Amino acid sequence: MTLFVIGLGPGAADLLTPRAAELLATVTDLVGYAPYVARVAETGQVRHTSDNRVELDRARHALTLAAAGRQVAVVSSGDAGVFAMASAVFEAVEHGDPAWRGLDIEVVPGISAMMVVAARIGAPLGSDFCAISLSDNLKPWPLVLRRLQAAAGAGFAIALYNPLSLARPWQLGAALDALRTVLPGTVPVMFATAVSRPEESVTISLLSDADPACADMRTLVLVGTEATRTIARADGGVWLYAPRSASHASASETVVTAISRVA
Ligand code: SAH
Repeated sequence: MTLFVIGLGPGAADLLTPRAAELLATVTDLVGYAPYVARVAETGQVRHTSDNRVELDRARHALTLAAAGRQVAVVSSGDAGVFAMASAVFEAVEHGDPAWRGLDIEVVPGISAMMVVAARIGAPLGSDFCAISLSDNLKPWPLVLRRLQAAAGAGFAIALYNPLSLARPWQLGAALDALRTVLPGTVPVMFATAVSRPEESVTISLLSDADPACADMRTLVLVGTEATRTIARADGGVWLYAPRSASHASASETVVTAISRVA
C-alpha cells in the first residue's frame, strides 16, 4: 500500500540520490513518462509508461496500483515536487477515491535542474531567487508574464523551466522581451541544456542579446539580476555568483566585458 514519488535528478547516474536508488530497486511497478522510466535500472519492475501530457491519468493509475497492494514508484526527472508528478499525485488524491488517503505516500526528493545548472557556473542562485515554468499548457500566458515581470522587478534571480517546445515555439522570445522591459540589458542569462548528460551544452550571454534559439525543451534558462557578479576565469570562461549581501547593487563594466568575451 505504498506509493513513492521519486525524483531521478537531472540525468547523470551519480546525481540520483542513494535513497531514490534503493527504493527504485525494491518496487514492483514503475509509472512515468517513458524516457524517465527508461533511466531506472532494470530489477524486474513492471513498467507503465505514457507520454508527458497525461499526468493526472498517470497519477490515478499509480494510486490504483498502490491501492491494489503493489509497491509503486512514480518517477519524475529532477525533483518530483518541482513542475512534476508529486503535485499530480496529490491532486488525484484530493479529488479521487477516499481510500487513496489511507495509502502510504512518500515523496523522495531529487536534485532539481536549477541546482545542477547553478552549480555549473558558480552560485547565481545564492541570494533570493524563484523558479517559473514558461509552459502555458496549465496556466494562461498573461499570468506567466505578470509573474516574470514581478519577480524580475523585485530583484529575484529566475530559473525558467520548460522554456519552449515544438508546440510552444514563441514563448521564450516573448518572455525575454518582457524581461528587457524591467531589467537592464547587462543582466547575465545562462542557457543550460541537458546538464549532466553526455549532450550537455551551456551558453552565457547578456539579456540584451540573449537568443531564444539557444534553448530547446531540455534547457533551463537562468536569468540573473542587476546584482549578479561575473568573474573572468583564467581559462577564458566565467563564474557567475549572487553576492551574500545585497549591498553590491549593480553590474560593473568588467562584468559586461567578461561576458561579451565568452558569449
Ligand atoms: N522536475 C524537474 C523539472 C521538470 S520540467 C526538475 O526538478 O528538474 C522540465 C524542464 O526541466 C525542462 O524543460 C528544463 O527546463 C528542465 N530540465 C530538466 N532536466 C534538465 C537538465 N538535465 N538540464 C537542463 N534543464 C533541465
